[in-house]
Amino acid sequence: MEVVPAGRRSEMCSICNVRAHNGFSYGAYCCNACKMFFRRVLFVGNLEPCKSSGNCLKKCRFCRFKRCIEAGMTYTPSEIDMNNTDPLTAWIFNLKHQETHREFQLLNCLFEGDPTVKEVSEIDGPLQFRPRPLNHPMDLGEWVFITGMTSLNFLKRFTHVSMMNPADKANLLKYTFFDFSIFSDAIRANVRNQEFISFPDGTEVVEVRVDGVTETFLNGIRCRLAARVNELRVTQEEFMLLTQIFFCNPALPNLTVSGRGMLNTYQKIYTSALLRYCFLTYQQSAPARFTDLLSIFQVIVSTRQDISHLFYLNTMQHPYENLKQIFIFR
Ligand SMILES: [Zn+2]
Ligand SMILES: [Zn+2]
Repeated sequence: MEVVPAGRRSEMCSICNVRAHNGFSYGAYCCNACKMFFRRVLFVGNLEPCKSSGNCLKKCRFCRFKRCIEAGMTYTPSEIDMNNTDPLTAWIFNLKHQETHREFQLLNCLFEGDPTVKEVSEIDGPLQFRPRPLNHPMDLGEWVFITGMTSLNFLKRFTHVSMMNPADKANLLKYTFFDFSIFSDAIRANVRNQEFISFPDGTEVVEVRVDGVTETFLNGIRCRLAARVNELRVTQEEFMLLTQIFFCNPALPNLTVSGRGMLNTYQKIYTSALLRYCFLTYQQSAPARFTDLLSIFQVIVSTRQDISHLFYLNTMQHPYENLKQIFIFR
């Protein structure tokens, strides 16, 4: 087996590791066969679950597709053609698998190190997580960190992010990963029929040891977003489409003119995709559904503002605790 020297990118396909890669396609260095395979699965969609352990190296389509996602492959339609639903279906299929991968990492992995968001944004390809031992104790700090890191890994692979210049990319990730994290917490609450957000093992998202905040304020953080998501019964498909729209946000501060322009273009594509999805799914009530779904963004923002308020009070009252760098805004 060829050993690739450190500091030099492998010449091999990052999916099969058997053939040489033919360049960068769908977000990874891959060979033509793996590139075509990825596209075929998205557009044909028939992916039977793995009949073995989920780690097959040969023949199993499920495991090959899983390796595509792990290697950072993703698909974004260049426009949503109203007469052809295939790109929309393929895109949603892709997004659901990206989310499954993120959820898997959240539940089963650890991230070693303490990078800044800027450093994370400069890493080429997916972030490297390692398996979490079964007996590894998880507390609030660990959950907040692994949620943040898996969110960054999820967001940084999307086409509109990977196409940005380094400064814009770092900014976009810095201002969006936390909002995405709380949105995904609320979706998990909905899946579990829970009226409040919590971490996967039930750990509370807020610690009640800050002077000067009321129980009502804390309950707002726990319940407001989950209540809205529950009320609307947001589906996994809608969650994924909203994720693209909300966090491809040209209104964020400090973006360059070209960065802003690109986010604007992509956000329009994503928004028309959601509208199209609503028409296919809800017919006459589509416009109302579309508006309701977009209104979730305000609830995400107000929840984040409350969390940062709590966070500043906490930092003032407990100043010496070490905080992971992704949460430090410079
Ligand atoms: Zn290959
Ligand atoms: Zn398999």
